[in-house]
Amino acid sequence: MNAVTASIVTIGDELLIGQTIDTNSAWIAQRMNELGISINRRVAVGDTIAAITQALDEEMKNCDILFLTGGLGPTADDITKPLLCDYFGGTLIVNQDVVTHLHDLFAARKRFITARNLKQAEVPDVCEVLFNKAGTAPGMWFEKNGKVVIALPGVPSEMKHIMSVVALPKIAAQYTTEKLIHKHIFTAGEGESMIADKLEEIESRLPEYIKLAYLPDAGFVRLRLTGKSKQPELLETEITYFQREIVHILGSIVVATDSLPLEFLLIQALEGTGKTISTAESCTGGGIGSAITNVPGSSTFYMGGVVAYSNEVKEHVLGVQKNTIVEYGAVSEQTVTEMAIGIQSQLKTNYAVAVSGVLGPNGGTERVKVGTVWMAFANETNVVTKEFKFHYDRERNKDMAIKNALLNLLRLVQGKLG
Ligand code: AMP
Ligand code: MG
Repeated sequence: MNAVTASIVTIGDELLIGQTIDTNSAWIAQRMNELGISINRRVAVGDTIAAITQALDEEMKNCDILFLTGGLGPTADDITKPLLCDYFGGTLIVNQDVVTHLHDLFAARKRFITARNLKQAEVPDVCEVLFNKAGTAPGMWFEKNGKVVIALPGVPSEMKHIMSVVALPKIAAQYTTEKLIHKHIFTAGEGESMIADKLEEIESRLPEYIKLAYLPDAGFVRLRLTGKSKQPELLETEITYFQREIVHILGSIVVATDSLPLEFLLIQALEGTGKTISTAESCTGGGIGSAITNVPGSSTFYMGGVVAYSNEVKEHVLGVQKNTIVEYGAVSEQTVTEMAIGIQSQLKTNYAVAVSGVLGPNGGTERVKVGTVWMAFANETNVVTKEFKFHYDRERNKDMAIKNALLNLLRLVQGKLG
């Protein structure tokens, strides 16, 4: 069988004006990628018959599986269902299982069911219904000329539910394909050009079925080796060999060899140590704590933190000396050191991080320029301080401060912060 390919058409005026960010096609693409199915194209169209029909005609020429999301709601602007019914030459019929499901759902939510709600149970008689236990609009699976068209609701949680429970197992069973293997190398501290120079020789030795991608983000570079083969065991051995070699060449800039976000790596590093962490954040406004609490199970290790935005909170809640702030300023090595010790002793944690900076665009002084961020990292015996100079806008400076705090916390926990 030739390589199986798919296209994704997302439907909705809200996508075209940028009101809703299209996360559906990224999620579907990731799942296809795991199955070794390549994505030809991702297209967004508005809620019009002409645009949807044109996208269907166009994409059906080039792929085996076509995903559609959106436009399945019961309102006048949602036209995908009748359109697909016409397109595949069917008529809308009431599906009794969906009717039962809708009644159960509305009864459980203690809401009256209306005729408009019940319209969700009308489905084309030329499709297989993909049940939606997570919502009201069922998905639909059509087949024509050896091609499959899968229509899914736009609401991400419902789309993911139908895909995970019904559509993905069906796709996996119908299309056995080449296996894709990814390996990652996550680096910090050097730009992609410097890394590319170091990897020039090894890149020239990669076989044509293994590709190396550079994904820079906020001062970090993630490298991804992707291989495709019908012999997964051989590919695994070969791609692991190249990953090890790259890790060896890049040395100390390598943070991890998986694709997890920093906060997940941090919690992983704390796993089994019995140690705890706390945060004292000024300019990051709780962003470090927010990232850490995205990790399931983080409550075992993260005791909490204080957003000490004003000097009063730094003094009265964290115990920073008034003199320290007067003499050295709120953005200084001395202040973050006292903030870290303050939160560490109040919350009785093994580790603590404190951050104070000027993110811009205003607020800089002769002494402390915009983009300056001081951080302190405390363990039981020592406090390590670091000064950062970020050169971007407020939002990106904040993101970089949060990521650098997480990176150095990770190094602290690993005993690698000097
Ligand atoms: P619909 O199925 O068209 O009624 O879509 C319902 C809701 O799902 C919309 O109001 C959007 O907020 C959301 N949505 C639709 N398409 C997407 C998409 N591609 N990515 C993320 N959210 C979406
Ligand atoms: Mg819509």
